[in-house]
Amino acid sequence: MRQVLKNLGRMESMSRILLSLRKRLARVERSLTEFAKRQQLRNLRCNCREVIVADPDKPQEFEAEMNAGCPLHGFRRLGC
Ligand SMILES: [Zn+2]
Repeated sequence: MRQVLKNLGRMESMSRILLSLRKRLARVERSLTEFAKRQQLRNLRCNCREVIVADPDKPQEFEAEMNAGCPLHGFRRLGC
């Protein structure tokens, strides 16, 4: 009986350790996710334009500029 109680005590302390490890793991996972998001945002470069000059002889180039999205803003601004 004493051995059973001793084993139960060990199991309880093991499950407390496991619970605390799970919480620490969840914290690490959250900070890794935040870090990855920040890195991703840092790597995104805005390619919006203040002014775009359209060459009437190359309408396909202008169309390509219009169709290209901005990695940071999604919709690409091409000036006024
Ligand atoms: Zn942009």
